[in-house]
Amino acid sequence: MLYKTRTIPHELEVYQYLNTRIKLSEIERKHLFTLRKGFEGEVQFDNLTSSIHSECFILNDLLLQQNKSIFQIDTLIIAPDTIHLFEVKNFEGDCFYDSDRLYTKIPPQSEITNPLIQLTRSESLLRQLLQSLGCNLPIQALIVFINPEFTLYQTPINKPFLFHSQINRLFDKFNSTSRKLKTSHKELAERLLSLHLHDPPFFLPPSYKYEDLRKGNTCEKCGFFQINIRGTKCMCKECGRMELSETTIMRNVKELSMLYPEMKITTKTIFEWFQGEIPKRTIGRALKKHMDCKGVRQWSHYEY
Ligand SMILES: [Zn+2]
Repeated sequence: MLYKTRTIPHELEVYQYLNTRIKLSEIERKHLFTLRKGFEGEVQFDNLTSSIHSECFILNDLLLQQNKSIFQIDTLIIAPDTIHLFEVKNFEGDCFYDSDRLYTKIPPQSEITNPLIQLTRSESLLRQLLQSLGCNLPIQALIVFINPEFTLYQTPINKPFLFHSQINRLFDKFNSTSRKLKTSHKELAERLLSLHLHDPPFFLPPSYKYEDLRKGNTCEKCGFFQINIRGTKCMCKECGRMELSETTIMRNVKELSMLYPEMKITTKTIFEWFQGEIPKRTIGRALKKHMDCKGVRQWSHYEY
């Protein structure tokens, strides 16, 4: 049973917004590609875990703290006898394993950070956290190589790696058990969910100034900038996608708030963000409907 869903990481979202509005450097574009690929791999794994029908609680994307250390878990499955911890990697191509290091096979054979380092840390911190919560279930920690186009040569047999071709077999094993969950499992799932940190870990975004960002609305489907306003709807001039103006406005409020968390949202700021493409009256109506108005007249602004 799915107990916690996955949402798009804050860092990825910021990078995606910036990618449409400024020219990212090559390093930043590569970083965006890595973030996007990682997230896609995790979503693919979620699709596979959704086939588990035996009793368990699935918690995706947990950010937890033990003592002063913060750790992130891609997927945690609370099963009747075991806690399963999965770290998902969307690597592709040919690599090889040598003395606890991973290298790309194609010259110049650059080293890739061994995901076992992260897994060992997360497992240890999770064990300490579970013990502090009075849970002594054993933990099985695995690295999932989700991409079927990935090959790891010279893999030692005793490493906790789960390759794409082995995932279904593991889940078949899950499904073959008829053991039931108890109240204590539910309490543990609730407790972990309550301990999940909502604030994203610190990351260093590319530097960007408001005046350098390309303003205007972007189509959610194709990223094109120009839109037609037709009554209460906006239509993309490129792909024809229709969206309620209200939805478009609130989508942009979210984007602006994410890029500038300190910025006060007013009808004027949103009007300028849209470069006057959407009338102030329509903006004001949407903001009033979805947000709380603080202050009076020209000093008023909106908050969630
Ligand atoms: Zn479009």
